[in-house]
Amino acid sequence: MIELPASGKLVIASGNPGKLSEIGRLLMPFGLEIVAQSELGVSPAEEPHPTFVENALAKARHVSAATGLPALADDSGICVPALGGEPGVHSARYAGTAATDELNNVRLLQAMSSVTDRRAHYYCVIVLLRQHNDPQPIIAEGKWHGDILRAPRGAGGFGYDPVFLDPGSGLTGAELAPSRKNRVSHRGKAMRKLLRAIKSS
Ligand code: IMP
Repeated sequence: MIELPASGKLVIASGNPGKLSEIGRLLMPFGLEIVAQSELGVSPAEEPHPTFVENALAKARHVSAATGLPALADDSGICVPALGGEPGVHSARYAGTAATDELNNVRLLQAMSSVTDRRAHYYCVIVLLRQHNDPQPIIAEGKWHGDILRAPRGAGGFGYDPVFLDPGSGLTGAELAPSRKNRVSHRGKAMRKLLRAIKSS
């Protein structure tokens, strides 16, 4: 059981159902009562920063200040070296302000139509704040390396999963079972590191 000050509740600073379900599954064995920020009526934070870690801190601080509860935020995205690291921190809105997962994938495949170097990695940083002004946030990161396909495959996962091939399994993120994705993914790796850091803090 992880000890969190003041309350056994932990707010997850995300409204993304795909992320919430993965984070919920990863935290399930640890006896925490987790609640999504949307359930508490907290509006999403601005994410104006050029780095994942700054955006994750901004999200966690925003929701912790609004609720008075410890908060966990994940900031993540997909980075393609052949595109100079894009979509990167812009992953959620790569296709513009009205972006959907499908439109983001269309834009990525178009941007890479003549690109032969198909390498990409997902990146995730997770931040835990015990309170909004916590001077020692617990921070962990994870990466998942793979390749961008030329057409989507699979119906599971979310975001860029249908176009992201995991070389270890030969399956896309959208073809991997949720438990298997969590074993190899950027988010799974970051979460396991975070849990180890919490235990030793
Ligand atoms: P954030 O909510 O600002 O962190 O945006 C993260 C975005 O990165 C998501 O909306 C997805 O487009 C993408 N992303 C992050 N993690 C994953 C994943 O595990 N699978 C697919 N897409 C992901």
